[in-house]
Amino acid sequence: MILPGATLGMLGGGQLGRLFTRAAHELGYRVLVLDPDPHSPAGRIADEHLEAPYDDDAALQELGRQCAVVTTEFENVPAATLERLAHWCLVRPHAAAVRTTQNRIREKRFIRSLGLATAPFAVIESAADLAAAARAVRYPALLKRAELGYDGKGQLAVGAADGLAAAFRDLGEVPCVLEEKVALARELSVVVARAADGAMLPFPVTDNAHRGGILHRSVAPAPVAPALAEAARQAAERCAEALDFVGVMAVEFFVDDDERLLVNEIAPRTHNSGHWTLDACVTSQFEQQVRMVCGLPFGSNAQHSAAVMINLLGDLWQDGEPRWPDLLADADTKLHLYGKREARPGRKMGHFTCVGPESGPLLARAEALFDRLRP
Ligand code: AMP
Repeated sequence: MILPGATLGMLGGGQLGRLFTRAAHELGYRVLVLDPDPHSPAGRIADEHLEAPYDDDAALQELGRQCAVVTTEFENVPAATLERLAHWCLVRPHAAAVRTTQNRIREKRFIRSLGLATAPFAVIESAADLAAAARAVRYPALLKRAELGYDGKGQLAVGAADGLAAAFRDLGEVPCVLEEKVALARELSVVVARAADGAMLPFPVTDNAHRGGILHRSVAPAPVAPALAEAARQAAERCAEALDFVGVMAVEFFVDDDERLLVNEIAPRTHNSGHWTLDACVTSQFEQQVRMVCGLPFGSNAQHSAAVMINLLGDLWQDGEPRWPDLLADADTKLHLYGKREARPGRKMGHFTCVGPESGPLLARAEALFDRLRP
């Protein structure tokens, strides 16, 4: 067990790193953040911020020297960085688990290898694969770059087979997956903690609504049939186990019109759809992440309130500061802002969570509060 007082390393200084840092501080740990951005939200509150690229060897050696364990807040940290760090300290999750999830082609093949369903897809490694891929799926479809896409970035809609070549060019002719557009009944996610000994503890299943490819709202517990929630939990645990994951990770699902559960993607880290755990669970996903990487026992995953979380994107700031008073006047609503200096459209600036005895009435209240924020 890595006990309070030890130093923990975090690769990435965004909001997930910041909320991890807060949770680690509560438990008495020091946190060292590596992020090249001098204004990174986590770097600003960490005990030390190493301002360097993720492949900077001097910075990695410093992390390895000071930290008992290093973890990550995003999937695009080079797997080689995690391998290098493993020479000096514990690295959780291990590099291979992150490598599998940071490339959509590897990730989808991994998911299928577990016998879990995904949306029908075809792999395009180069232009030579275009003709076969174009015939392999139904339209409309989405072309997604295999690497470095997030929040709907790096993907283009393809309405028909004859639009594929142009879309592939527009994405830069990099390896891609062509994926059928699913008629979505809903989207779900499961955040699951897994310990080094293989024990697992999932948080309650969450129902998610996206706008423009970015998470807008999460409702927990998800208002779905118990059998569907159980299937999602089991699928998430299957993924965590097969990755031999240690830490907290999330699995995102599509549910189609026939109530079929399809795995969309795996995040090898805490997840935006788990932010509600900060205000509605005994243990938040971030505290659980600290516990898992340090080898501590699980904190309780019990949910003491229903919760609706809404994301605050930079768009909300385009005409001035949001109108906070109504939100702040709601005694059962918790506001979280991440301390980002610049509010760009699509950038996650913060979120708020409404808590209460039942999610039904919370949904309308949360959306009404959101509508009243616009200046
Ligand atoms: P992704 O970055 O791939 O998770 O996509 C972001 C969001 O876009 C998803 O959460 C969905 O709302 C939507 N989306 C992505 N792929 C599909 C698909 N194949 N069918 C329907 N909606 C999709």
